[in-house]
Amino acid sequence: MFASLSDRLTATFRNLRGKGRLSEQDITTTVSEIRRALLEADVALPVVREFTAAVRERALGAEVSSALNPGQQIVKIVNSELVEILGGQARDLRFAKRPPTVIMLAGLQGAGKTTLAGKLAKWLKDQGQTPLLVASDLQRPNAVTQLQVVGERAGVPVWAPEPGNGVGDPIEVARSGLAHAQDKLYSVVIVDTAGRLGVDSEMMAQAAAIKDVVQPDETLFVLDAMIGQDAVATAQAFQEGVDFTGVVLTKLDGDARGGAALSVAKVTGRPVLFASTGEKLTDFERFHADRMASRILDMGDILTLIEQAERAFDQDEAERMAAKVAGGEDFTLQDFLDQMQQLKKMGSMKKVLGMLPGAGQMREALENFDEREVDRIEAMVRSMTPQERANPKIINGSRRSRIARGSGTTVTEINQLMERFEQAKTMMRQMARSGGKMPPGGFGP
Ligand code: GDP
Repeated sequence: MFASLSDRLTATFRNLRGKGRLSEQDITTTVSEIRRALLEADVALPVVREFTAAVRERALGAEVSSALNPGQQIVKIVNSELVEILGGQARDLRFAKRPPTVIMLAGLQGAGKTTLAGKLAKWLKDQGQTPLLVASDLQRPNAVTQLQVVGERAGVPVWAPEPGNGVGDPIEVARSGLAHAQDKLYSVVIVDTAGRLGVDSEMMAQAAAIKDVVQPDETLFVLDAMIGQDAVATAQAFQEGVDFTGVVLTKLDGDARGGAALSVAKVTGRPVLFASTGEKLTDFERFHADRMASRILDMGDILTLIEQAERAFDQDEAERMAAKVAGGEDFTLQDFLDQMQQLKKMGSMKKVLGMLPGAGQMREALENFDEREVDRIEAMVRSMTPQERANPKIINGSRRSRIARGSGTTVTEINQLMERFEQAKTMMRQMARSGGKMPPGGFGP
């Protein structure tokens, strides 16, 4: 996500590190490096101009010259200006006073609308809402089936064209879908609409007509962050065509320059509400400008990490584990396996680790991280008998060879696992002693 922009900016700041005072020349050089980094990342020119002017002005001002560590002060300024262009304070999705809340999705074909419809539906359902998906994309072959598949995965019903629901007429499908939702008391209606490969007046007219019929509480413009320079023009066309209320950035998991997407909030004056970061239903998060800025500046995104952990972790299980350790009971290999499985539910380990501060510095190691490692550990523990899992001390040489054979691994790997397990166990003991707090240095390697 914004990897090259992030690299460029952090490299720029590295040059400032340790400097006691910054001359005007230092600031000019830094600002022009920032400008180049933003332009290279495809951030729209007017946004870059405004951004660099603001950074320069503040950098020359008192907050930097009187600071103990001017370099850090500049990072702070860039951070706050980044938050600003990304739309500032996060806004919540607006719900209707009287349900159903209607959310309409608009955007180009391939932007990720249908995928997003499923993610949004699941996210809302997890919050106790009862969403209905409405398939008003009749343009693309298979769009309806695709929405049905997505709906099934999310466990959310789909209203699709059938005789009586308006076969072939997306506006009629939207109208009947909304009526059905009102009748059956669904709390949210998500209307998926058709896109084209490029901005097209017929498509825009159709989207506007659907908007007229369903009177959405939120019209979300879905934007593929990978489309580069075209993003701003596309956003402006949709703003004129359907006057959206919020933006969703998709494919933020890609390594593209993505900067154009970063300009959209500033250029359209509409906030980015959500971010989509992969093809799976759970690759979806609220967009927070401050957290995104923090990720771009390689300061990590601990808050999102915690939220995802809360979503993935089973509260009862976590409490059981805490009580067990606090009670002086030994942490077993079975517990270790349970923890691994919970961690796996948070999604790709690469993504999880990528949210830690300084992740940009270890990008190569992250790229090479083998997701199957977790599966291998699982296979190893599964090849152990219950006695072995509960009392790892009995795992001697011959047992190790048997476990290696059973799990398709090597004795060396079993030895490594046992070492790691011992480390985790020590850490759990320290945590129990310190009353549940993390040991200094925290978890991890
Ligand atoms: P629509 O035409 O706007 O409905 O777009 P789709 O939902 O069909 O998505 C187009 C393609 O992009 C599909 O192959 C999706 O799996 C993929 N896609 C959607 N969102 C994301 C995302 O956040 N990351 C990645 N990597 N792929 C995505």
